[in-house]
Order: sequence, then structure tokens, then C-alpha cells
Amino acid sequence: MIIDAHVHIWKRTMLPDVMMEAYLEPLVLLDQMFFGGKPGEKDWLTSETEPGEPVRTMDLAKIDRSVILPLDFGLVGPVRDNIELYNDWVFEYCGSFGDRLIPFVGVDPQRGQDALRLVNKYVKSFDSKGVKVYPSTGWSPNDPKMDPFFDLIDDLGLVVVTHAGASWGPLNDELSRPELFHDVVVKRERMRLVIAHLGGKYREELYHLASEMPNVFADCSALQGWLPSQPEMAEARLKEAVERMPGRVFFGSDWPLFDLAYCQSNWVEFVQERNWGNDEAKEGLLSGNFLRMMKS
Ligand SMILES: [Zn+2]
Repeated sequence: MIIDAHVHIWKRTMLPDVMMEAYLEPLVLLDQMFFGGKPGEKDWLTSETEPGEPVRTMDLAKIDRSVILPLDFGLVGPVRDNIELYNDWVFEYCGSFGDRLIPFVGVDPQRGQDALRLVNKYVKSFDSKGVKVYPSTGWSPNDPKMDPFFDLIDDLGLVVVTHAGASWGPLNDELSRPELFHDVVVKRERMRLVIAHLGGKYREELYHLASEMPNVFADCSALQGWLPSQPEMAEARLKEAVERMPGRVFFGSDWPLFDLAYCQSNWVEFVQERNWGNDEAKEGLLSGNFLRMMKS
């Protein structure tokens, strides 16, 4: 079985212009270079999830299940469809694909009571098992103002997936440091924390946190950034990750963000075929580790 622990879907109206431009920046430059115009509403693969995606690309990549993470950038810039409409759409969309898509709630804890309401809503109505957060939008995980949010996560025994490492556009990298979660996880044993992208440029902080806390996990999405030009780097990062936190790293693609440069099925093949770990490590990364965490 193969599980992709890090996938996004969105409609153009659910993300602010400033974030679309940040995600699409290289494409925008190309567009201007060749056509001299501004990017349109739906010119690019990453502008909006096409109907039937991401399941079609999962089939090509032989991925059985994907965790769907909505992105709440609604406090970074104006959006036409608010975060509740975005989450409603994600949960309804995923429901039509049976157990292949596993939707988490995407909400910015800076929304205070409304964030708590939304988490409760999707746990009660859809039995959601997790939440995606993105501290780079302007908040620090160890800020006491966030305590009610993480207390609720802990009470409900949810998984939190957090962005870590580099951020685009108006976002603040420094707030995505894994060490800012230290006090959050120490106090909350039922909460399980997944640091995305192996912590990115802060990966030493991830490994330090994981060495202290058994409820800290990671996904390897965005390592495709090294591909296809530097395969040895992606391989070395995978090898390091399974040595430093064995049994706690998940496969992830960050689909659709890397698909134009290095598609999801190539990424699956890379992980399956390269010599970064033994068969047991590969089985764990591709599905076993995630399934064990969800049962714990
Ligand atoms: Zn992502």
C-alpha cells in the first residue's frame, strides 16, 4: 500500500491573489516573458484542482490513499470563498471518493473561537482525524494565545500537520521553526505532531524535537525540489531521516506544487527504487508508519 500524507486541493477563489502569485511565481515570469500578460484565472495546473484530480494522478502513481490538507491563507489576503466554504468543499469532495482521500481540517488558529468551532464541526460531522496549520501566516505555536486551540486538538486526540521550512510570498519563515512546537507537544501527549517537509532548512530542530518527544512525526514532501538535478541530495535526506527518527517519517508529495517539475509518479518510483533504506524502511515510509500513527 502507498499513502501520500501531504496533498492539497483548492479552487482559485479559495486562496488570496498574493499567495497564488507566490506559488506560481516562476510560471508568472514565463507567462510574462512569452505572452507579455498577467496570469489568468486558471492558466496553470496549480491554479485550481481539476475535477477528478488528485485521484487520477494517484492512480498513475499507484497511490492508494492521500491525506488532503486545506490551506487557510485567508488572513494573509482577501479570498472570495471563506475558509468554512473551503473546508466544506474539501470534506464533500473527499467523501465522494470513499476512503481514498483522507481530509484534514485547514484552519488558522489566529481565528480564535472560530477556529475551535471549525475543528469541532468537522470532527463531529465528518469524523476528521487531523488539522493542518501554517504558522508562517503570522503566529507562533508557543504563544499562550494558541493554548485553547492546541488543548482542543489534544482533547480530541487529533493529528496536527504543520508547515516547516521555507515559505513563499508574504509569509514569515522564522515562525515555521519546529522548535517553536517544543512546549506545545511536551504538555499534550495525545496530540500527534507531523512536521512537514522534514523541517526543510530547520531539519536539525525536527530531529532534536523527535529525539525528545515520541509524538513527533514528519513527512518527506518537497524533497522533489532537489529533483531531477540532484538525486543524491534527495536520497541522502531520506537516509538521514529514517536513521534519525525511524518509524516516524511518512511519504508525501505536496501535490500539485511539484508536479510540473517532477511528477508524483516519478517521486513514488524514486522512493521505491533508490538505495536510501532497506525494504522495511521503505514499507514504513510508504504506508506503515502513517497507519501505525493513526491507530496510536
Ligand atoms: Zn504543502
